[in-house]
Amino acid sequence: MSPNAKSALRRAGVIGWPIGHSRSPLIHGHWLDLHGIAGSYDRYGVPPDRIEAFLAEMEADGLVGANVTIPHKEAAFRACRHVDDVAAALEAANTLWLEDGVLHGANTDAYGFLANLDHSTPGWDDTPQAAIVLGAGGAARAIVWALMDRGFNPVRIVNRTIEKAFSLAAHFGSKTSAHAWRDLPGLMADASVLVNTTSLGMEGHPPLAIDLTGLPERALVTDIVYVPLETNLLAAARVRGHRTVDGLGMLLHQAVPGFARWFGVTPEVTPRLRQIILDDLSEAK
Ligand code: NAP
Repeated sequence: MSPNAKSALRRAGVIGWPIGHSRSPLIHGHWLDLHGIAGSYDRYGVPPDRIEAFLAEMEADGLVGANVTIPHKEAAFRACRHVDDVAAALEAANTLWLEDGVLHGANTDAYGFLANLDHSTPGWDDTPQAAIVLGAGGAARAIVWALMDRGFNPVRIVNRTIEKAFSLAAHFGSKTSAHAWRDLPGLMADASVLVNTTSLGMEGHPPLAIDLTGLPERALVTDIVYVPLETNLLAAARVRGHRTVDGLGMLLHQAVPGFARWFGVTPEVTPRLRQIILDDLSEAK
C-alpha cells in the first residue's frame, strides 16, 4: 500500500467485551465494499478496566470513530464531551466519532428500532395508544424512549425483576409505568404495540411463553431478538393475525448513522445485506 493510500484509509470498529459475536464488521464491510470506500471496520475487545484508556487513545490509534456495545455504552457516554439528545436521555452512547480531537457520541439504538418498523410496517404508529415493553435492560431503555418519542402513552414496562422496571419508569416519568410479569394479561386490552426486549426466546435461552389472548388484533408485535429470526413470540402472534416484525432490521438500521458519519456516505439497508447476515448466522450454528 502506498503511503498516500494508507493515510486515506479511514478506520472504525466496534468496541465491546466480549466482541467475537458482533456482526457489525460484516455490515460495515459490506457497505465499504459496495461504495468502494478506502476504509476498515474491525472488532476491538476491550475489558472493562481498559475502556476509559482505550477511548482516550482512539485518535492516537488512528480511529475516526466506533460503535460501542455491551458492556461499554455507559462508559462511552461518560467519556464524550458532546452527545446527541438521545444519548443524553438514555445516558448511553453506541456511536462515537472525533471532531477536531473531541469525542462526540450518539445513541442510534432507538433510531434503529424505529427505522426497522417504519420500513417494514409503514403507518405502524399512526394512532399510538398504550405500548407494552417486556424487559427493563439496556435495550428496553432505548425502546421505551423511542415509543414515547412516537407518542405511545402509557408505555408499560414489564420485567421479572420489578425493581428494574420501577427504576426505568422513574427515569422516564409519568408516561411510563412498571409492572410485574403476572400483571401482563391485564395490561393488553388497549395496547397497540407489544415489544420483547428480554433475551427470552433467543437461541440458548428459555422461550418467551406468554398468552396473547387479550391483545387487540390490530396490535403490532415485535421482537428485538433475531436468533432465531422468527421467535416463538412472533410465531404465536402471526398465527393470531397480528402484524409482526423481527429484530434483525434494528441491528442493520442502527448501523447507518455511524457509517454515514465515519465514511461520508449514507448506506442503505437492503435485502442483500439482510441475507448476508442471515447466511452468517446460519453458518455459525
Ligand atoms: P440486558 O440489559 O441484559 O437485559 C436483559 C433483559 O432480559 C432484562 O429485562 C432481564 O430481566 C430479561 N431476562 C433475561 N432472562 C430472563 C428470564 N429467564 N426471565 C425473564 N426475563 C429475563 O440485555 P439487553 O442489552 O437489554 O438485550 C436484551 C436482548 O435484546 C438480547 O437478546 C439482545 O441480543 C437483544 N438486542 C437486540 C438488538 C437488535 O439490534 N436487534 C439490540 C440490542 C439488544 P431481569 O431484569 O429480571 O434480569
